[in-house]
Amino acid sequence: MKIADLLQTATTRLANAGIDEPQANAQFLLAHVLGVARTWVLVNGAFEVSEKEEKLFLSLLTRKGNGAPLAHITGIQPFCGLDILVTPDVLIPRPETENLVEIISEKFEKKGHYTFVDMCTGSGCIAVALAVKFPNARVLAVDVSSAALQVAAQNIRKHKLTERVDLLQSNLWENVMGTFDLIISNPPYIPSANLDNLSREVKEEPRLALDGGADGYEVTRPLCRAADGYLNPGGWLALELDDGQPWPLARGLAEIDWKAEVKKDIFNVERFVLAQKR
Ligand code: GLN
Repeated sequence: MKIADLLQTATTRLANAGIDEPQANAQFLLAHVLGVARTWVLVNGAFEVSEKEEKLFLSLLTRKGNGAPLAHITGIQPFCGLDILVTPDVLIPRPETENLVEIISEKFEKKGHYTFVDMCTGSGCIAVALAVKFPNARVLAVDVSSAALQVAAQNIRKHKLTERVDLLQSNLWENVMGTFDLIISNPPYIPSANLDNLSREVKEEPRLALDGGADGYEVTRPLCRAADGYLNPGGWLALELDDGQPWPLARGLAEIDWKAEVKKDIFNVERFVLAQKR
């Protein structure tokens, strides 16, 4: 079948299955099967897809129609211009988190010999992106989940960062030693009661990576409470949080003498807290 016809059939099937952005998803999936970029698929509508490729595409389309996230099917999610390997053991990197990396990066010199720690690293996306952006930095990537750390390890190897990115299994600060110029984290922050309202696709992601406990701050709170002792003078704390969470946290930090800013994400949601100990 021709690419254009196949995409039309696929888009209709995904739309009928109630999948968001059916056309884009169909294009990404076909590009994945053909081993090409999505743009190639868009400009080569007359190209004939082999029977084998068509069969594979249709089977992946069925998985997508049944609610599997695209990144679970392709095994990859782009993040800060890098391909990050993803499995169901880790949160799929989000554009908001790319935003956090961009915003905090402006606070540091490109060539600086910094030490950064990424708490709740999951796939390792933040740690890897920072290590790529800051070629002289060392990054410690921490997670409580050994399954997540295995994925992070693959990403560190894939991006040839084993010399500068270390992995540590730890429940927050429990096993962490040393001090850092930046503590960055996209912790689980969704209040437990809201987890049932998440979309079908987000429910395919690990609950551990999403569940912020009763009020959504049950991971963030101990993370911040001990942060002071792990920061070098002038060091930064940078967090991604849920809509509505940054101001109460920023005010709490200000009360204990931190200088805290709240920043918006690309969707105009106040989502980030950047803070420095005075
Ligand atoms: N941003 C994610 C979501 O919308 C949540 C990530 C998190 O809890 N850190 O599902």
